[in-house]
Amino acid sequence: MNFSDSEIVASILRDRGMEPTLLISDADIILLNTCSVRDNAEQRIRKRLRELRSLKKKKKDLIIGLIGCMAERQKEKLFEEEDCLDLIVGPDAYRDLPKIIESVENGFKASNVLLSEEETYSDIIPARYHNNQVSAFISIMRGCENFCAYCVVPYTRGKERSREPNSIINEAKELFEKGYRELTLLGQNVNSYQYDDFNFAKLLSEVASVNFLLRVRFTTSHPKDISDELLHTIANTANICKSIHLPMQSGSTKVLEIMNRRYTRDWYMNRISAIKQIIPDCAITTDIIAGFSTETEEDHQQTLSLMEWVEFDYAYMFKYSVREGTDAARTLMDDVPEETKILRLNEIIALQQKLSLQSNQKDIGKVVEVLVENVSKRSQDFLSGRNSQNKMVVFPRQNYKVGDYVKVKITDCTAATLKGEAI
Ligand code: SAH
Ligand code: SF4
Repeated sequence: MNFSDSEIVASILRDRGMEPTLLISDADIILLNTCSVRDNAEQRIRKRLRELRSLKKKKKDLIIGLIGCMAERQKEKLFEEEDCLDLIVGPDAYRDLPKIIESVENGFKASNVLLSEEETYSDIIPARYHNNQVSAFISIMRGCENFCAYCVVPYTRGKERSREPNSIINEAKELFEKGYRELTLLGQNVNSYQYDDFNFAKLLSEVASVNFLLRVRFTTSHPKDISDELLHTIANTANICKSIHLPMQSGSTKVLEIMNRRYTRDWYMNRISAIKQIIPDCAITTDIIAGFSTETEEDHQQTLSLMEWVEFDYAYMFKYSVREGTDAARTLMDDVPEETKILRLNEIIALQQKLSLQSNQKDIGKVVEVLVENVSKRSQDFLSGRNSQNKMVVFPRQNYKVGDYVKVKITDCTAATLKGEAI
């Protein structure tokens, strides 16, 4: 989401004659787009600001700004704590950036952290900075109103709002014409996309119908409202990728309830069974939090057993980090000791490593369709790309090039990558 927002910011600034640079020493303005979802993300920004402070000592005119969720969460207080900062702008105020930069050039510190109930940046065509010329993100909604007890996003990104569908479909068409072959539709909970009579399933199929050579992905789905209608749309449309990211967070109904996730272990299993039945070749990935408030060893074992039951292809795994202002911070104790959180997280990571390897081993011998994204990082003689299931595939280059669809027979794998030969 931040990556996509940075592309919107770059577009707004480019319209005012500014250009990105690859060398930090060339920059007149440096904006850090920040995440507040875990303390660790904010600490990394603090460290980066310390580095920038010394850069600013050498270059007095350098403008340093902090944008995104950390700006929204900590607001002008950051000016006191980080003296190198000249501007602070929250996620709904990026249109104001040129004006704010002007104020800074006139010698003031400036900020805008107002949240909006309408802003979707729908008319802004983002600059594109993906590391390949094939894939792009399209933001389809902003904000979140789910208020999971641990999560800061509803406070930093405000009310949920859906972007007007024609602006999304037109952006998809333009990207296809420019040569892009894979789009990822972004939202905190894409299943609740709604604009007039457009729901997410309808939007997804409209974007997929732009061209059958355009692959479409999306993230993230909330388990409480992923519908059979959506699953059938995915199953029946060849160019909607067979890959669903469905964050489970915990395998314990008790913990899920305290997290305010509004589903149970049984409900989650029911949704996974529906995915496996309706889209048999679908990859399933997830997010997991270890050591949330009140989590016992038994709750943790339920997380591990649910992971084994689902056989996730991939997971993002975190240890619980208290976020000030959230319901959990206000009403619950952070009562799982740090060492226990780390132990549990390590068990979850080790299990996922095993599951990812098993999942990839099952693909050996299969022929998959790969959209080529890059020349492999390890060797110029290899290309890399993804299959519909979003697994990374590496194979000998021959005469294929970035943007091609190539049928690859899988011959080997690691937990992270499939290897094969074009056929
Ligand atoms: N909207 C998405 C999640 C966005 S945040 C969804 O609901 O699925 C991405 C992930 O960060 C979450 O799924 C969760 O696993 C993790 N996360 C969020 N807040 C956290 C916290 N306070 N501590 C640890 N992990 C957290
Ligand atoms: Fe956070 Fe829950 Fe919203 Fe996801 S759905 S962004 S975890 S509050």
